[in-house]
Amino acid sequence: MKALYDLTPFTLLDFPDIPATIFWFAGCNLRCSYCYNPDIVLGVAHIDEATALSFLYKRIGLLEGVVLSGGEATLYPNLLPFCRSIKALGYKIKLDTNAMRPDVIQTLLNESLLDYVALDYKAPASEMSRICGGGSEYRFWESFYLLQKHTVDFEVRTTFHPDLLDEAQIISMADTLVQKGYTRPFYVQLFRDGTRTLGNLPSSRHAIDYLLLERYVTLRT
Ligand code: SF4
Repeated sequence: MKALYDLTPFTLLDFPDIPATIFWFAGCNLRCSYCYNPDIVLGVAHIDEATALSFLYKRIGLLEGVVLSGGEATLYPNLLPFCRSIKALGYKIKLDTNAMRPDVIQTLLNESLLDYVALDYKAPASEMSRICGGGSEYRFWESFYLLQKHTVDFEVRTTFHPDLLDEAQIISMADTLVQKGYTRPFYVQLFRDGTRTLGNLPSSRHAIDYLLLERYVTLRT
């Protein structure tokens, strides 16, 4: 079955503390205007599972983790058996997700198939449609609570573009997380200038403008 749009053979940045590969799943159920991966979101898968698993088999002992990214990996209909196959080869799995499929996250957690989850907190409820072209803050919190009550390691993160959200909204999101019992870092990735996006966004100011945010969140540049 065609699973991936592409794969990145090696990364030391995307799976905490271990060398990993990134599997890029085609398609997404959101349309975030700041999305850096329009080709993946709008594209189709052309790497099949057998090819991806063969790649992993050849790198046993060299790589330790697989990052499921995209696009949105939880949309892939064969994700559960695919993850079982990845685990059977001895790899850890990190899921990067927009949190809109808590049912899939629950299923993966039930089988202990996830070792780390990066959960996107896109925006306050009132801003989700404008920024993401849809989505549900309710589903985000459903996914969040699943992870909060589970032992799996996870993080919450967002992307900040000053034309889409202001600092007060980011701080409000950070406060809301704390109110709901979140004690881990809230990572804020600053929009990267010069990158093609789904929404063709203009350039943003530099990170230095947002030092105030560092008091409330963890900036990731
Ligand atoms: S940034 Fe938004 S549109 Fe792009 S892959 Fe993530 S959830 Fe989908």
